[in-house]
Amino acid sequence: MNYKKYSEALKDKYGEKVYKIPINLPISCPNRDGKIGSGGCIFCGEIGTGFEAQSASLSVAEQLHKNIEIIAPKYHANKFIAYFQNYTNTYMALDVFEKVLNEACIENVVGLSISTRPDCITAPYLDVLKSVGLKKKVDIEIELGLQSININTLEILNRGHGLSEYIEAVMCIKTYGFTICTHLIGNLPWDTERDFYEGAKLMNVLGVDAVKIHSLYILKNTVLGIWYENDAFDMITPDAYIDRVIQFLRILKPTVVVQRLFGRAPEEDTLFCNWDMSWRKLQNQLEARMDQHGYRQGDLYTTEKIVSGGQ
Ligand code: SF4
Repeated sequence: MNYKKYSEALKDKYGEKVYKIPINLPISCPNRDGKIGSGGCIFCGEIGTGFEAQSASLSVAEQLHKNIEIIAPKYHANKFIAYFQNYTNTYMALDVFEKVLNEACIENVVGLSISTRPDCITAPYLDVLKSVGLKKKVDIEIELGLQSININTLEILNRGHGLSEYIEAVMCIKTYGFTICTHLIGNLPWDTERDFYEGAKLMNVLGVDAVKIHSLYILKNTVLGIWYENDAFDMITPDAYIDRVIQFLRILKPTVVVQRLFGRAPEEDTLFCNWDMSWRKLQNQLEARMDQHGYRQGDLYTTEKIVSGGQ
């Protein structure tokens, strides 16, 4: 394989197929409720980003059982990661956080994955994660939304945080030994190609364990959707996106796990998603192009460091 696929990395680690099962909590995000910002990121829809999740009115265990009932026979999977996906999952009372984590540790759950914002990483929440992880013998992963390394783009996106908050969050999580996965968008109209590639270098330097690369999808009833309908920006072609992602992968350390390379969103909710092609078809094209040129993840990664002294 020309890049380190998540499904294979999980199989290597656990000895069998492992599936991430989304959990939807009745929570929000400080970038939506006024604490950090209001209106949220310009691409974020009313229901956040948890399209595949069950209703938040169900308990955590009920959501897991319901999804496992569907996924286990379909994909012949017996082990699962409980994925706290939607909104900001370290933005709730600490005792509630601890309760939902414990509830998620049902039989055959081998890991907890917590999706959150870089500016919502604090020691009390990491301490709780560590203690639940040890007590329940489950691995802990934190998914951090970054999207772009360009602070001007972050401002346009109304992210409500900059690059330094992300770096600080990664450094803090590292001290706990949890796995870190970072979300980046590969074709933000305000980013240059160089911004995106610099993102790969930043992942290398910080020792991030995994990445989720998204192609930008545009949801209805969002600020981004209004801009799109008013032709306020241009999207690159699918070919250019594939080239860009290949270059990103070539710069990325070969040990970094690649959890995703294209965005996924339900057709009925989007104005634009993957140039009206299936993400699988695009992924096949990307892999074929890498094969054709003999490209591999990390073939442009260098461990050489500047060691000379001076100013
Ligand atoms: S941080 Fe996440 S949940 Fe909050 S507004 Fe942005 S995309 Fe939505």
